[in-house]
Amino acid sequence: MVDSPPTPGARDADPQDVVIVGGGLAGGLIALALHRQVPGSRFVLIEAGRTLGGHHRWSWFETDIRPGARALMAGFTLNGWDEGYDIAFPGLARTLPTAYRSLASAEFHRALMDELPAERVMLETKAEALDAGGVTLADGTRIAARRVIDCRPFKPSEALAGGWQVFLGQHFRCDKPHGLTRPVIMDAEVDQVAPHGNGEAYRFVYVLPLSQDEVFVEDTYYADQPKMDAGVLKGRVAAYAKAHGWTGEVIDQEAGILPVISGGDFDAALAEVSIPGVALAGARGGFSHPLTSYTLPFAVENALAIARLLARRPDVTGQELAAFCRRRAKRHWRSTAYYRMLSRMLFEAAEPGKRVVVFEHFYALRGALVERFYAGRSTWPDRLRILTGKPPVAIPRAIRALFSSGKPLNTETPA
Ligand SMILES: Cc1cc2nc3c(=O)[nH]c(=O)nc-3n(C[C@H](O)[C@H](O)[C@H](O)COP(=O)(O)OP(=O)(O)OC[C@H]3O[C@@H](n4cnc5c(N)ncnc54)[C@H](O)[C@@H]3O)c2cc1C
Repeated sequence: MVDSPPTPGARDADPQDVVIVGGGLAGGLIALALHRQVPGSRFVLIEAGRTLGGHHRWSWFETDIRPGARALMAGFTLNGWDEGYDIAFPGLARTLPTAYRSLASAEFHRALMDELPAERVMLETKAEALDAGGVTLADGTRIAARRVIDCRPFKPSEALAGGWQVFLGQHFRCDKPHGLTRPVIMDAEVDQVAPHGNGEAYRFVYVLPLSQDEVFVEDTYYADQPKMDAGVLKGRVAAYAKAHGWTGEVIDQEAGILPVISGGDFDAALAEVSIPGVALAGARGGFSHPLTSYTLPFAVENALAIARLLARRPDVTGQELAAFCRRRAKRHWRSTAYYRMLSRMLFEAAEPGKRVVVFEHFYALRGALVERFYAGRSTWPDRLRILTGKPPVAIPRAIRALFSSGKPLNTETPA
């Protein structure tokens, strides 16, 4: 069989085994897992942008990914810190021992383009319509496929409840070594005020020392509205860098507005993005951590699970693959209920100016508990421990938040 990208105008000839729509983190990792683990698999990864992965930096704790799944990330050149990380709050400063990793999207693109056969990746190609039998591109080309996986971006839904995490980060090349050896995952010793009255929120600065003279500084806040004033955030990043003596040039920048989910009707939200017979994955399919909005550990697990299924059962149909992903998404939603409850505590029980205390209370707990929390694998004793002790929020408000269904997610287009 000749492997070549579909030509414009080709219709329903020579169906692919799998078409993956969206070459972001989730789609790229599924392609990688299929390439490595399903020999002979004929798949196509379709990405609207010029590169795979967009313009991001993804970071994670080493323990977020199970040891057996880490090999999927082994081909990427990562930034890594084995000596742990720091956090700083008004009443708590601590170094935790967990190793930390970070991957720039430019490297994600480079490594995937190196490893995946050229005919498996279509860049600058927009899918117009997806269905159980394939994908129709914006130029009318039809790519027939036995299975279609939709990995396009997350779509906010009114069926979900929660708030937003708003951030802007800049990568500095400093005039002299910055002197940092570990990441600072949360420096919350900063003003707890969000710009333009965007639901006064928990705010912190995140710092990654990328090399001796390069540092990434990101200003983040949790807010009710999906709004960002990039000018204000750039000013804050610049002021933070200056206060630490990191002068130099800004060589890169990223920004994001990500959902923090505190409840909702997951079936209804999925129904809004589901296409019959098409599998859903990535953030769009619900595979994210409700409180941190991280998706990387779940994207790794999903990619491997899909590849395992196709390697074991080459005859699996598109409908079956869609049902498989849906079952995984629903299991993920059930297993993350606790984090949605914590999101309600943050957005509803904690007075805005005191949201910082919720995190300070959390970070005073044992390192292993913090690790399991980020990995989305908190045990029942962890869950009890997080909620006990001197409560960082007023008990009546906490009880109301426990039983509340959450504030509807503001679905204005993030600005
Ligand atoms: C700036 C930023 C930093 C983040 N940092 C982290 C982090 O440190 N750790 C972490 O775990 N998570 C992080 N996240 C959250 C989350 O992991 C990312 O959003 C992640 O990229 C989601 O991956 P995805 O593949 O589901 O979706 P996306 O990355 O949104 O990928 C979807 C892809 O689909 C493409 N596309 C859209 N429409 C079409 C179409 N019609 N046809 C073809 N292609 C299409 C898009 O161009 C895009 O490349 C971050 C998010 C942002 C925005």
